[in-house]
Amino acid sequence: MNNSNRVKLARTNLPSPSTQSLFLTIFSCLFSTTSSFSILPSLLKYRPHHHPSTTSTIIMSSSNTSPGDAAFSNKSNSNNIPTYDGDSSAKATDFANYFCAYSQLYHQKQMLTDHNRMAAYHSAICGNSDLFKDKIVMDVGTGSGILAVWAAQAGARRVYAVEYTDMARHARNVVEANGVGHIVTVIQVSLRWWRVYCFCCEKIERKCPCSIHHDQPQGAVEDIVLPESDIDELGLDPSTPQNVDIIISEWMGYFLLRESMLDSLVRARDKFLKPATGIMMPSHATMMIAPIVDEEERRVQHNEFAAAMEDWKEFATTTQNVYGVDMSVLEKDFEREQREYYVLSSRWAELPVSCLLAPPCIVKELDMHVCTVEDARGVGLALGQDEGVGAPFEFHIDGRSNSDEGMMSGSTTVSGFAGWFTVDFKSRTDDIGKDSAPLVPNPTILSTGPEMGYTHWGQQVFHLPAAVPVLADQTTSITGTLEMMRTKESARLYNVRYRLTVSRRKSGSENVGSVLMKGEPMELVYQIP
Ligand code: SAH
Repeated sequence: MNNSNRVKLARTNLPSPSTQSLFLTIFSCLFSTTSSFSILPSLLKYRPHHHPSTTSTIIMSSSNTSPGDAAFSNKSNSNNIPTYDGDSSAKATDFANYFCAYSQLYHQKQMLTDHNRMAAYHSAICGNSDLFKDKIVMDVGTGSGILAVWAAQAGARRVYAVEYTDMARHARNVVEANGVGHIVTVIQVSLRWWRVYCFCCEKIERKCPCSIHHDQPQGAVEDIVLPESDIDELGLDPSTPQNVDIIISEWMGYFLLRESMLDSLVRARDKFLKPATGIMMPSHATMMIAPIVDEEERRVQHNEFAAAMEDWKEFATTTQNVYGVDMSVLEKDFEREQREYYVLSSRWAELPVSCLLAPPCIVKELDMHVCTVEDARGVGLALGQDEGVGAPFEFHIDGRSNSDEGMMSGSTTVSGFAGWFTVDFKSRTDDIGKDSAPLVPNPTILSTGPEMGYTHWGQQVFHLPAAVPVLADQTTSITGTLEMMRTKESARLYNVRYRLTVSRRKSGSENVGSVLMKGEPMELVYQIP
């Protein structure tokens, strides 16, 4: 197997829930407004591969979080993402950890150069100009404004391009420069203001006189109102905000849900989209996992962990011998922390198709017209809970030659699982809209799976602590469940729990007596950095 063309991410940058981190990230955010340099450990999906300015921090496991950290957690008390109903400190953390980086053209450009992404959205919008003609469109999270410009070019009558960050300023320029300023209204709302720590004035201020950190607007798509002047001009229904015909949005994060922008999209849909005839683009989303062989990378991860522990031993000896303090009491905690970082964190990968050992199994499907904020909480969870029975999966990997299906043949190894998603741009299928909404004449699909080559989402790889052999003439079965839930510290980050059992039987024999081996049930919890 040739993995040499893999794109590898530098050690992942994660927000720590600590106060120090909050100030650090706010500072970096402010700093980044005045220079192209940023030390922001970003929550957003568009992590630069070789960004010179990134730093490494390690997320603390939930068990490690002290009550004092709660004030700075990246979620509201009701578990919603803070843009909706967070208090000012949660909003400040959210802005610093998540939104801030989106105000950099550097990150927007990473998305604009993901050609699988660009081509899919371009076909979905410009390839369906009959659908867009004379419609009222909303672009949720317009960023640089590209989707809004396409919607205008496709014939929309009005496009509301909503953006939370200062990127709205750039979007306005792009819209004007492309001659669609009379169609596209860029909306960035500054309804309320949150407090920031000003490093120059050394205090937390609402409206600090310091010019460096000019106040950040807080209004997200959830807060906006459509311009009143449009009620007459476009003949909108003044009795309801549900005047939008089409919502376009590029809201997807790693393994679909990371970033939790789906919450905002759902709230925008419920507030603005015409219920029976409105169209969501994309219209459907599907999450899937598949077993993979990826031994080279799995071993790298394990070697890095082993090296970190070796390094600890030397550090402890030096500290004892030179400074006379015994640090060995901390070794167990250090080991747990490093294991979580190296072994129990998923990794971004651009896998070749030859890594796949079985066809993918779907773990979640979303109809964007009817999905709820509850759907955005995770996968396989009980209503309102952070755990549940999980989404079931089942893989049967045949060690015999099955190369005609494009899978591996002979004996191989299961190194772990890869998770990715697809989104569709097609007609409504839900009960309310399938007969009343206009059809999408030219459906499109965007896949972030190995078959697509590079997308900036790539796949998330969950390596097993120990590889599972797949032997010739035997069928190795892996059955279990997957749960994906928000972390305790941040509503925009997720953990994934696998519960699984491995068994082997002679290939071609279905009966229970033919089982050669059945392993102990395993439970593995990974963080998606
Ligand atoms: N539509 C652009 C950018 C997509 S990235 C493109 O396709 O290239 C997602 C964008 O949504 C970011 O710019 C982010 O700042 C914005 N965003 C995320 N949540 C938002 C919210 N609640 N309200 C408004 N904008 C939001």
